[in-house]
Amino acid sequence: MSKILTIGEILVEIVATNRGNGFREAVPLIGPFPSGAPAIFIDQVGKLGQECAIISRVGDDDFGWVNINRLTEDGVDVSGIEVLPMGTTGSAFVRYREDGGRNFVFNIRNSACGEIALSDKTLALIDTCTHMHVMGTALYAPSVVTSILTAVERIKAAGGTVSFDPNLRPEILDSPGMREALQTVLSKTDLFMPSGEELFLFAEAKTEKEAVAELLAKGIKAIVVKRGDKGASYFDRDTQVDLDSYKVEEIDPTGAGDCFGATFVTFWLKGMHPAEVLRYANASGARAVTKAGPMEGASTRAELDALIQAQGNA
Ligand code: ATP
Ligand code: MG
Repeated sequence: MSKILTIGEILVEIVATNRGNGFREAVPLIGPFPSGAPAIFIDQVGKLGQECAIISRVGDDDFGWVNINRLTEDGVDVSGIEVLPMGTTGSAFVRYREDGGRNFVFNIRNSACGEIALSDKTLALIDTCTHMHVMGTALYAPSVVTSILTAVERIKAAGGTVSFDPNLRPEILDSPGMREALQTVLSKTDLFMPSGEELFLFAEAKTEKEAVAELLAKGIKAIVVKRGDKGASYFDRDTQVDLDSYKVEEIDPTGAGDCFGATFVTFWLKGMHPAEVLRYANASGARAVTKAGPMEGASTRAELDALIQAQGNA
């Protein structure tokens, strides 16, 4: 059976309860919610009952433990999370703008997860895994890049597979070395999962059809394009599947892409037909937006089946 690994930031998210532009004024907040794109991703994998692990670092503080406890509860192997007695767990403040966009203030550069480095113990953990998922956000710190590239190399060398969600945030895109690291990961990717706009950061072509063809020609086996409330599409050399989104009430869109990706990877690795895999991922992304807090909307398989049954093939 496959075991899915990810490496990257674990943090808490604190969310403004009213809309507006950034944090240059006092605003009401809720949180802390367990967060970090790799953490949300792996929590969703665990909730689906799939064997999985995360390599990360947190401080020995409540923000770290709220994450470790949740991931453990949801079935994730947390043996690769190092608790640093003198470290601090990162945080991100998020405020939704009136136009639906989001402003973030990240406190992650100097937090424990910015110093992720591999040890004999985590190298041994990597060798038990058969699939590596890379979140672009995790490539913001040089030591994390080194750890991720090492895991990608080892898992591929052992015959495993790699998925990649660029998950780009303008706030961190210009971190030193990040753009190069994104390209290196892309060159090792089997399954690529960008959002519509991110596709064009990795391809020269100007239309989606051409960009997809360009990337498939480079050796990527499958591409899934996420389109928020407009659904998602799947492409490989022989197949294209387009699905509309499920109709749900959007409370908090953060985490939709991570839950969608986790569900796609989990079912893709089971060898199901891409249309079926996309349907589950689409349902997972839809359920994710119905709860406040980025990890709160992760779903069990029974919850996904219930949504699919209620709304059909979307
Ligand atoms: P983020 O990085 O903020 O998590 P993303 O850009 O990676 O987001 P989205 O495209 O926002 O990912 O969402 C992923 C998937 O979740 C969509 O392709 C869709 O299937 C589902 N989804 C997202 N928002 C909604 C919504 N409002 N209603 C229904 N489904 C949604
Ligand atoms: Mg995303």
